[in-house]
Amino acid sequence: MEKNNIDYLRLSVTDRCNLNCVYCTPIEKDKFLTHNEILRYEEMVRLTRLFVQSGIKKVRVTGGEPLIKKGIIDLIKLLRKIDGLEELSLTTNGVRLKTLAQPLKDAGIDTINISLDTLKRERFKEITRFDFFDDVWQGLLKVFSLGFKSIKLNVIPMKGINEDEILGFVNLTLKYPITVRFIEFFSTNERTMKLANCLIDNSIIKEQIKNRFNQMTANTSSTADRPGPAQYYKIPHAKGLIGFINSSTGNFCNTCNRIRVDCAGKISPCLFSGYRYNINSLLKNNESDEKIIACIKKALESKGEYTKHIITDRKIEMSSVGG
Ligand code: SAM
Repeated sequence: MEKNNIDYLRLSVTDRCNLNCVYCTPIEKDKFLTHNEILRYEEMVRLTRLFVQSGIKKVRVTGGEPLIKKGIIDLIKLLRKIDGLEELSLTTNGVRLKTLAQPLKDAGIDTINISLDTLKRERFKEITRFDFFDDVWQGLLKVFSLGFKSIKLNVIPMKGINEDEILGFVNLTLKYPITVRFIEFFSTNERTMKLANCLIDNSIIKEQIKNRFNQMTANTSSTADRPGPAQYYKIPHAKGLIGFINSSTGNFCNTCNRIRVDCAGKISPCLFSGYRYNINSLLKNNESDEKIIACIKKALESKGEYTKHIITDRKIEMSSVGG
């Protein structure tokens, strides 16, 4: 049974990343997908087109890190041409945005989400194991200067790591037209289970912000984006918004409108379910549109089975499924 209106596809275009964040940490090098396993661009575009024919209206390109993928701008241009696609978005760590923001805008990216967990250079190195804070910051400024439809910063607050930076991030919304979203950490595999006690409940963060700014009003306007798991708020006179995604303490299955596909053509109806439908061989064997659409429909219909917001597959790699 198809439950919600599923109109949002997250397309992970690579399982590789140029960062190595402590809470994500891409799988060991020898476990990366091989060139032959990964879909070619024309296969990704065909698959996306068939998803759009099956009701998808918004596509978010993610990864791994999508901006390290050779020819990514060409892929964006091809996706943009798909009839019926209303919104094309990107999630990135921002490292390569300084040079790629303009080509991305020209290629047709509407909205950008940037993942950034600290505003301190040294700490950035500790969290990501790379000294790229300045690159991300300059990329962010470049994005502001270009006027994308929406710019969001995704922050994962973690005990003992960046919990002292909440107000620093909120201050950004006073100065810039940006939505800062606090996303609760969750562990999807044995490795990240080790960080389980770093989780900070978003209600604590909300309290901290309320105590500092006295007033924070709920914002339900469309500028906060299409329907999704985040609740949005605004500090009076701020240019941007604050969002909370209670991935660990909440359950937003009943409004979940998204489906995921990885760069090898495996479809994941629910982030916590792992991959359930593999259409790699259908694409590689150039099977008919009808056959592929039938598989997409099955995956979309299976969304109704996921209502409990619990992790049923403990082998999920966020660096591969793309968040
Ligand atoms: N490289 C891109 C980026 O950094 O945004 C896209 C891929 S990354 C896996 C997508 C999102 O997943 C990031 O915002 C990241 O913070 C989030 N993420 C990764 N592991 C997570 C975890 N254990 N809990 C919550 N969010 C996580």
